[in-house]
Amino acid sequence: MPHTKPRARQSKIVATLGPATSTYPEIRALFDAGVDMFRLNFSHGTHDDHRARYAIVRQIEKETGRPIAVLADLQGPKLRVGVFAKGAIDLVEGQSFRLDLDLAEGDEKRVHLPHPEIFAALKVGSALLCDDGKVRLRITKCGKDFAETIVEAGTKLSNRKGVNVPDVVLPLSPLTKKDRADLVVALDMGADWIALSFVQRAEDIKEAQALIGDKAALMAKLEKPAAIDNLLSILDLADGAMVARGDLGVEMPPEEVPAIQKRIVRECRRLGKPVIVATQMLESMISSPTPTRAEASDVATAVYDGADATMLSAETASGQYPVEAVTIMSRIAAQTQSDPAYRAGLEAQRQMLEHTTADAITAAAKLVANTIDAVAIVTYTTCGSTTLRAARERPHVPLLCLTSKMETARRLAISFGVHAVHTADAHDFTEMVEKAASIAKKYGLAQKGQHLVITAGVPFGTPGHTNVLRIVTIGE
Ligand code: PGA
Ligand code: MN
Repeated sequence: MPHTKPRARQSKIVATLGPATSTYPEIRALFDAGVDMFRLNFSHGTHDDHRARYAIVRQIEKETGRPIAVLADLQGPKLRVGVFAKGAIDLVEGQSFRLDLDLAEGDEKRVHLPHPEIFAALKVGSALLCDDGKVRLRITKCGKDFAETIVEAGTKLSNRKGVNVPDVVLPLSPLTKKDRADLVVALDMGADWIALSFVQRAEDIKEAQALIGDKAALMAKLEKPAAIDNLLSILDLADGAMVARGDLGVEMPPEEVPAIQKRIVRECRRLGKPVIVATQMLESMISSPTPTRAEASDVATAVYDGADATMLSAETASGQYPVEAVTIMSRIAAQTQSDPAYRAGLEAQRQMLEHTTADAITAAAKLVANTIDAVAIVTYTTCGSTTLRAARERPHVPLLCLTSKMETARRLAISFGVHAVHTADAHDFTEMVEKAASIAKKYGLAQKGQHLVITAGVPFGTPGHTNVLRIVTIGE
């Protein structure tokens, strides 16, 4: 079996695939530069495009022997205006503008908003933000099939621009008809994670999980004020979260986003669920080979906060410098990780243990690894829960996760510090020790004379039973 050396970096990188990254050489170059999870954005492209990219990722996985996570990102109930007779219109601050259910093409006075359920939920005084917040409309009158507004800001609106309604909890399922069809395709191809957009409440997560079952893990994209109000109940059910700063920064004042980002990262760490910081991280690299200083600082901040991963969107999907963007993101993360203040910060935010065997063992593993200068912590896991608890400790050494389930190995590719290897379960203590030692050696994580700390469950191969901690010194 091929085996690629683990990356030295603990925080992971997600890259979105798109027109700029569709071929084998393009995607392989992203992987080689440092991508741990590939995101297929179902807001764009055809099912065949996604299937083709998925197949390439799996080919790379086979060639390199490293499990790779694939995230299928569903568009969700993104609202859009209809079309204008002239394609676009000019707006003047203070003018009135109407949205309605009339299918006729729009003009300077009105446009179609093809979402009947929305009109019922709108309230006088609420804002409608169009085109990523560039146009702000304030509702002065509304009924079951129209809304009259005053233009508060913005000068132009064109065909099918997005509409955000921040102050209203919308009576919408998080899964549109399109999402349901996309979900079938994503699960059928074998996506490891499904991202749910515009989540508003815990019920949204339940609704998606009822369709997904155990076929994939569910990532909640936090991009609505309602989701922030319901953060804990949402995170309780989701398997992971994304700080989706694009829409979040439209729906909320941008100055509130940094504190919310930190809070989401903190809560996910407390729960031991992976969290991705996303959007505009290296935005200027869409058309420039180097990032701005502010962008470098933004990536570093997410890493200092202990996020599991940082994400690239248009930078890799349609930008001119996709490989450079991954390379620089990886360098920033690695450099940040080598700052003593980074480790001190992670330790200071260390979370309370739960009173479980798994937490007792994984916390002890970190302490023991520290005390004897072990070079890695090895976790045997079936469904991944022990490895997630170990990652929650944010250990200073690599977490070598050994699992007999390929799905587990792939899902964990996004988790902090985890290097997952797909291998058969150990059957007894001797095999547990020998397997861990030989795999750690093979992957360059340990050499003769160095120590490993191993956690496993006895009886072997029974999920959710981690109860053993063993120290091993590598022999010949
Ligand atoms: P999107 O989600 O790119 O699918 O909109 C991320 C975000 O809103 O930040
Ligand atoms: Mn979004």
